Amino acid sequence: MKKILYIVVPCYNEEEVLKETAKRLTKKLNELIKLNVITKSSRILFVNDGSKDKTWEIIKDLDYKEELCTGISLSRNRGHQNALLAGLLHAKEKADIIISMDADLQDDVDAIDEMLKKYSEGSEIVYGVRKSRKKDSFFKRITAQGFYKFMKRMGVDIVYNHADYRLTSKRVLNHFADYKEVNLFLRGMFPLLGFKTDIVYYERSERFAGKSKYSFKKMLDFAWEGITSFSTRPLRFILNFGVFITMLSIIGLIALLVLYLVNVVYPTWLIIIGFIALFAGIEITFMGIIGEYIGKIYSETKARPRYIISEDLEEQK
Ligand code: UDP
Ligand code: MG
Repeated sequence: MKKILYIVVPCYNEEEVLKETAKRLTKKLNELIKLNVITKSSRILFVNDGSKDKTWEIIKDLDYKEELCTGISLSRNRGHQNALLAGLLHAKEKADIIISMDADLQDDVDAIDEMLKKYSEGSEIVYGVRKSRKKDSFFKRITAQGFYKFMKRMGVDIVYNHADYRLTSKRVLNHFADYKEVNLFLRGMFPLLGFKTDIVYYERSERFAGKSKYSFKKMLDFAWEGITSFSTRPLRFILNFGVFITMLSIIGLIALLVLYLVNVVYPTWLIIIGFIALFAGIEITFMGIIGEYIGKIYSETKARPRYIISEDLEEQK
């Protein structure tokens, strides 16, 4: 059965690339329509994220002239993740399959074919993963790879080298809509959903035109968002550290007591240091215990779905 495909493209000040992006995506959709893979109701959905340049004018023009192009506009700049979410939730009402990609043509348009193939084989989330980072600057490569490794250590399950180029089924997005959190880190949220997933590798190229909309500060904020929205490990670290300091100071104090008993002479300030460390350790431990509860409150307030039923045999009868 033919499906409706929506490609969601968040755009912030992308006037330099939009026309080319629309051209290439329209070409791709037309090919797929001809091959009978998707229906004519498929669309490219541009999401204007409060751009200050001509982005929205261009989108309106595309919507008018090109049958396959359409758009929505956010009332102000809400950032990449929010713009993407708006597009995904909007598109799921109309489409069976939704693919998200950046506006700057860094993501290889031809990977869409393979994504659709994996979908037809039963995968409901297909992650686009870049093969190499050869084309990145040294700085971006180091920081990005460090970021993925650090996230793994923090216990956040993300797909290595996957950004937000991704196929999802309507059904997956319907469940995704139950994740009501406002601090978004989409690439960390999709792996929480489960379902049959797959990966498509592609070569990521340089930005077609214009500058990256992610400054170094935005990148840091994003990484911090990823950690603090997904992991309570920093809190657990406080507790462990407190226990460690407490143990260490107790051992030190016992050692000093033994030395005293065998009449070894040492400066008395060592005892004072020992007690200071002990009390510091106890204090940090107590903070860590409070932290554990804060961690619980944090996950409760997110109110994420506790489970998702993917098959119901009774319904399939
Ligand atoms: N973007 C957005 N809102 C923002 C910043 C970026 O919608 O506040 C969009 C941008 O137009 C692009 C995508 O997010 O389609 C990724 O941004 P960019 O290519 O600048 O990031 P990079 O590839 O450099 O990490
Ligand atoms: Mg980019």
